[in-house]
Amino acid sequence: MPKLFIGGEWTAAVDGRVRDIRCPADGSLVATVDEAGPKDAAAAVAAARDAFDRGPWPGTPAAERGRLLLRVAELLERDKARLARAESLDTGKRYVESQIDVDDVAACFRYFGQLAAVGAGDRVVATGGADTESRVVHEPVGVCVLITPWNYPLLQAAWKVAPALAAGNTVVLKPSEPTPHTAVGLMRLLTEAGLPAGTANLVLGAGPTAGGPLTADERVDMVSFTGGQATGRRVMAAAAPTVKKVALELGGKNPNIVFADADFDTAVDYALTAVFLHSGQVCSAGARLLVEDPLHDAFVDELVARARRIRLGGPFDERARAGPLISAAHREKVEAYVAAGLAEGAVLRCGGSRPADPELRAGWYYLPTVLDECAPGMTVVREESFGPVLTVERFHGEAEAVALANDTVYGLAGAVWTRDPGLAHRVASRLRAGTVWINDFHPYVPQAEWGGMKQSGVGRELGPAGLAEYQEAKHIWHNTAPSPLRWFE
Ligand code: NAD
Repeated sequence: MPKLFIGGEWTAAVDGRVRDIRCPADGSLVATVDEAGPKDAAAAVAAARDAFDRGPWPGTPAAERGRLLLRVAELLERDKARLARAESLDTGKRYVESQIDVDDVAACFRYFGQLAAVGAGDRVVATGGADTESRVVHEPVGVCVLITPWNYPLLQAAWKVAPALAAGNTVVLKPSEPTPHTAVGLMRLLTEAGLPAGTANLVLGAGPTAGGPLTADERVDMVSFTGGQATGRRVMAAAAPTVKKVALELGGKNPNIVFADADFDTAVDYALTAVFLHSGQVCSAGARLLVEDPLHDAFVDELVARARRIRLGGPFDERARAGPLISAAHREKVEAYVAAGLAEGAVLRCGGSRPADPELRAGWYYLPTVLDECAPGMTVVREESFGPVLTVERFHGEAEAVALANDTVYGLAGAVWTRDPGLAHRVASRLRAGTVWINDFHPYVPQAEWGGMKQSGVGRELGPAGLAEYQEAKHIWHNTAPSPLRWFE
């Protein structure tokens, strides 16, 4: 039975509580895991604090820390099949997608392993005097609490754990409660790679009872959180009394803008993966399709025809192209968004219900859904459903496309489709989003920053800025020939 990992020891929850983990594809029991409460959270923070204040990791040379992360990348590749299987059972995600995720996780560890070895940009500063030396060095922030969501459990953990460890911090990881297994696997691999005890700790448990105490604890220096906007606000508020550093990766309501001159077949194809990949449970999902007026009708007709053909199924059904939603409660939330859209005047073009297929009845499936004739004020257009629900709006010309795209509190990602490079770059530069794709959707690389503008978050993950999040800059001034100043004489 997976346990909590505190101070280098696998341990049960103090009060003996456990949680059943069920596979979203059929509701079957995957495992029963230990469920931390506030006392376990406090113990994990104490271990991480002790490891930071007295342990070897913060003072380990950066190149050596980097080598350990490179070793973790190798171990991830060795254990890819096992980890991908565990991820699929927890999330219901297709096995092939989980395998891609593990590859991406290994690439993330490799990138930060190499970046750590390159150094943190420490520099000598000109002082203008022969008897003074000044340099700026980069140090770890301290004890970092890392809280992650259920849609990409191992990947989101890696985006935080790899840079935090590269920078010399100690960490407490709290994965989302329905998807703990790959975080357990990651702790085992970090230990196998030689990470000192207490440097990485794992707390499995619910947000309010395990995550809340972690974010409020005054011994914690930083909280990095990925999840929903409402929870992000709570995390920020809980961190405020002790003025912790806070990094937030929140949701998105991402526009996918298709101009009339776009490559029709490719743009339709990508519009489908933009929103229906992983059944829409992707923070950067292209859930708002904006189509230029002359193209709108033909584009939506073709999109709907293809959406109807998407085959749903469990993680190991090789014919399936999309899986279930994470839970019954989440499916109900998605259903409520579709109902609100219809009540507010959207036109249902396909989906809008649970599948009739008896084979899928035990899982939490929902059909790929297209809502046409949507308007900016509708709830389903404004709020993140985080399900397989596409809203379609039509626009006339560049200015209206940009205005509609930016008419959201979110600013995570967006895409523009056109054969006109000038138009593409003008629109890309005016979109208020942390990532913009031109004639593409979804790709990312660990070398490039990821994060949101506006209410999609604070800070960046990945890239050099993703490492800098976990560092403090320190200016050290050295007077090499001190003599009295005699200011007051
Ligand atoms: P969530 O906000 O419900 O939960 C995220 C994490 O926060 C979980 O581990 C949960 O246990 C924890 N949590 C809940 N309440 C807490 C509290 N009071 N204090 C501390 N921790 C608490 O989000 P979710 O449903 O797991 O994930 C879906 C959301 O994540 C979506 O909104 C999605 O857009 C977002 N997301 C964003 C990105 C990104 O890179 N921007 C990536 C993936 C997911």
